[in-house]
Amino acid sequence: MSMKIINAEHGDGRAQGLSPAIERRARELFTVSYGELARRIDHMFMWLMIVQWVAAIVFAAFFSPLAWAGKSSAVHSHVIAAVVLGALITSLPVVMILRHPGTQMTRYVVACGQMLWSALLIHLTGGRIETHFHIFGSLAILAFYRDLKILIPATVVVAGDHFVRGMFWPESVYGVLNPEWWRFLEHAGWVVFIDAFLVLNCVQSRRELYSLSLRHAEVEYSKDAVVRYERLAAVGQLAASVGHELRNPLAAVRNAHSYLRKRIERSKGDSLEVNDRMRQFMSVIDRELDASAKIISNLLDFSRPRTVTAAPCPLRPLVAEAITIVPDSAGVTVENGVPEDLPIPDLDKDLFRQVFVNLIQNAAEACGAAGGRVEVAASGGGDAPWRIEIRDDGAGMPEEVRAEIFKPLFSTKTKGTGLGLAVVQGIIERHGGTLEVQSEVGRGTTFTIGLFPT
Ligand code: ADP
Ligand code: MG
Repeated sequence: MSMKIINAEHGDGRAQGLSPAIERRARELFTVSYGELARRIDHMFMWLMIVQWVAAIVFAAFFSPLAWAGKSSAVHSHVIAAVVLGALITSLPVVMILRHPGTQMTRYVVACGQMLWSALLIHLTGGRIETHFHIFGSLAILAFYRDLKILIPATVVVAGDHFVRGMFWPESVYGVLNPEWWRFLEHAGWVVFIDAFLVLNCVQSRRELYSLSLRHAEVEYSKDAVVRYERLAAVGQLAASVGHELRNPLAAVRNAHSYLRKRIERSKGDSLEVNDRMRQFMSVIDRELDASAKIISNLLDFSRPRTVTAAPCPLRPLVAEAITIVPDSAGVTVENGVPEDLPIPDLDKDLFRQVFVNLIQNAAEACGAAGGRVEVAASGGGDAPWRIEIRDDGAGMPEEVRAEIFKPLFSTKTKGTGLGLAVVQGIIERHGGTLEVQSEVGRGTTFTIGLFPT
């Protein structure tokens, strides 16, 4: 089939609005890769929460040791806050991350939890201004989610905490007892300032992720389209040649039939004498129907109307040529084991190159990603038949697949056209040769070509 047809139809297809399908697929891919990203960041936050908890306890224990009152000792309230409040703040996000990783609800909970951690750390350090950096750091890390919606609850939690504590325990948030009443607004202003940039960043990096998905979808689509149009082109070609070749015999049959019908109708039920002309037309019908049947079976074999022009052709170089044409697949070695001194058969070089290319390619594909070994071996020749084997240690095939493989358009591969073996078989048959296959699931497959001296 010609590449021109494929390209033209491909171009048309896209212009005719197959792009909603691509967009749908792109959204699917986006959802998948966004989910992966969100789960990865969920996981990171889980550890961050736990580390913060441990750090808070250590800090509280170190800076606020046991307070002594007479002979009894009491644990300082900061240590209790670190242990108890820390556990409360950490537990819900961790449970959500473990139970519902990657969901937006989990992200909301994580965002609120992380900002509460800022509040608790600021409280534990007595409102040190340096600890306020934790807020900005946390917002930036939350932006890794590329989800601007979660910045809203995060900001609300920060502002709410500042406002409420600023009213009742100003020392624990600003480090001084009498801050100006608008102090919380100043803090909120800085948070909004950084939020603005983080929102921009979220939107942009989300867009980048989507356009990456779109590109992937387009690549997928164009690969699928090539295979689909190759199939369509093959079916179209088959249909066209069947149609063309059947037109002449069918015209002859119709002609003969209309003559016979006229004769029969004209007899008006009287006994009808069969004359030579009628006999002649009846044999035309017989002959042409036979011819039609032959055409159909030939074309269904996917034998192209390309005549075989056989000439002496050494096999080893031909196999070597075919091996270079088959695209390399990782981990698969292809070996040319055809003896140098093998007697030279008569065959159509171009057609037989295609035979080897198809068989070697199938063998390499059967080895798959796991890798494997493909070998071409040959023996016989001269007065005896040639025996050429293409062996692989690939996946093999079950009997129900083996029974179908020579049918045109049969393929078990998602990107297969199913024409390879139909073409191979047609070519070998036209050389008067034989093609046999032996296969065992999990062990490999051997195709054996038999060629007979002319
Ligand atoms: P395609 O390669 O496009 O699938 P083919 O006509 O070349 O079409 O082969 C048809 C089917 O026969 C393949 O899809 C595959 O299932 C099977 N097949 C062919 N060669 C081998 C092999 N060496 N090992 C296992 N299965 C094979
Ligand atoms: Mg093939």
